[in-house]
Amino acid sequence: MLILVTNDDGVRSAGIRTLARTVADLGRIVVVAPDRNRSAVGHALTLEDPLRLDELKKDVYAVDGTPTDCVNLGIHGLLQQPPDLVISGINRGSNVGDDITYSGTVSAALEACLMGVPSFAVSLEQLEFSERALTTAAQFARRLASRVLEQGLPRETFLNVNVPAAPCRGVELTRQGKRQYGASVVRKEDPRGRYYYWLGGADVSYEDIPGSDCNALQSDFISVTPLKANLTHEQAYTELLDWPLQSMIGNL
Ligand code: MN
Repeated sequence: MLILVTNDDGVRSAGIRTLARTVADLGRIVVVAPDRNRSAVGHALTLEDPLRLDELKKDVYAVDGTPTDCVNLGIHGLLQQPPDLVISGINRGSNVGDDITYSGTVSAALEACLMGVPSFAVSLEQLEFSERALTTAAQFARRLASRVLEQGLPRETFLNVNVPAAPCRGVELTRQGKRQYGASVVRKEDPRGRYYYWLGGADVSYEDIPGSDCNALQSDFISVTPLKANLTHEQAYTELLDWPLQSMIGNL
């Protein structure tokens, strides 16, 4: 089996190193990951600049690009055959609810899914990893990887896995929840007397939605959410069939 491992925290992060080491017995592991922290770059693809690939050691590569670049470069530029699985993580911090839309970690798994390669993302709720929680996340990822390698995934599906900071009480199949980010722009003055702005920093909470990834994590359960790339809103499509779109074409 050939497994491509990537992340968005950078190739040197503890999360990816533990993950790669833990799944090592499942096959050949090739790590292709950003050379630095590229968290929250979403599904960005580098098109206007060249990409450099630095072989740190055998089967471990650093790329001066995004997680999505890494999956592309790994699959189309580096590996002789498509991998059997792509795993992205273990991310520093959870990726639940709206986080998914910003997450480089989840986007790397999305990219693999678009290429038809089974994939999942793994994130750990802690920002400062404890050895225990990191081991739990890596071991769960290994068992999940083993299952996916044997059974595959439903068509056009990839998985988003989140592991709680506290000792986990179980695992739950979930749906994407909803974050509440609050007002989170900080304005300060720089030494030259100009204002600068910094996004984030405000406490985040989440909507209480039973069965959601947010709720599962809050209850100290590992959350496994099946995701798809196709964003078409089927219910809205049906409702919008009533819209007079044809009349809007008018004299265009
Ligand atoms: Mn990250």
